[in-house]
Amino acid sequence: MTSIDQQPFLSIKDLKVHFSTEDGIVKAVDGLSFDLAKGKTLGIVGESGSGKSVTNLTILGLHDRARTSIEGEILLDGKDLLTASEKELERLRGNKMSMIFQDALASLSPYHTIGTQIGEVYRKHTGASKSQARARAIEMLRRVGIPQPESRVDSYPHEFSGGMRQRAMIAMALVCDPELLIADEPTTALDVTVQAQIMDLLKDLQQEFGTAIVFITHDLGVIADIADDVLVMYGGRCVERGAKRQVLSAPEHPYTLGLLGSMPSLHGSVDVPLTPIPGSPPSLLNPPTGCRFHPRCPFTEKVADGLCSRERPPLTVVDGRGSACHLTPEQKRELFHDVAGSRHN
Ligand code: SF4
Repeated sequence: MTSIDQQPFLSIKDLKVHFSTEDGIVKAVDGLSFDLAKGKTLGIVGESGSGKSVTNLTILGLHDRARTSIEGEILLDGKDLLTASEKELERLRGNKMSMIFQDALASLSPYHTIGTQIGEVYRKHTGASKSQARARAIEMLRRVGIPQPESRVDSYPHEFSGGMRQRAMIAMALVCDPELLIADEPTTALDVTVQAQIMDLLKDLQQEFGTAIVFITHDLGVIADIADDVLVMYGGRCVERGAKRQVLSAPEHPYTLGLLGSMPSLHGSVDVPLTPIPGSPPSLLNPPTGCRFHPRCPFTEKVADGLCSRERPPLTVVDGRGSACHLTPEQKRELFHDVAGSRHN
């Protein structure tokens, strides 16, 4: 998903993340590849259990190494993170790559002031003095729009509103100017107005720092706002990817079409009824054979010889655009026309 003149800053190749449980092997991520250039945002979308969060914890090296089997390659600025030592990963986390989570309250310590927590990250990675770290914390709080940062730097997390805590977490994530930011549903718990403010903030900061962002969400509306490229995950696999506009206005996979049909129209008619995707996400312990979406797909009869339940459709990617489905392009145009046409982005 890089333009021709930009080398990927983050490059993931055929990533497989499997972990053992008492009930068997969970194939949380099963052959995922993507590239991301500096200054760009990749939106990863999918339901719970689609493998999007596991992917990002693996990039950060935050998985349980003892119980997890990982194959493939994760290159960050040319360095393979899967062969990096714990010490190297710790140096990279917070410095070169950073993460913001959905729940700021759970991520911030209730026992230390906001300023101390931001300052500690800065000191750890730069060796700055306490006073330098405090000054940097104030500067970051100002950048993320916290009013009166000189006094709020001494506040505790519980003294901040939900939106302010999220801003503080972003300040902490960006205090060392990371080149990669992973944002895992960072606005899900916030009301719509604060959500819009946080998104604007991330976009501004990305412009300022040139950060590459992986933005994980189940919400295509959020993707429409922030992403350059979109990767749709289902059952631990990528089922569709491409530039945001292409994916949202002309989806090539029935699952993406289903996601679009189950949310209010992005820019089209408000009269189009919402159609939830029937059924539930697949078990990753015993995933369906063939195409993992086949138990929920309305188009399986259009594919001959029961191929959908027998054979995994390959993901063919040309110029960053691709989907994994046995339907022909002509069938997709015909079958998807009604839903996609009314939900133009
Ligand atoms: Fe549906 Fe078959 Fe395409 Fe899978 S391969 S999305 S089951 S039509």
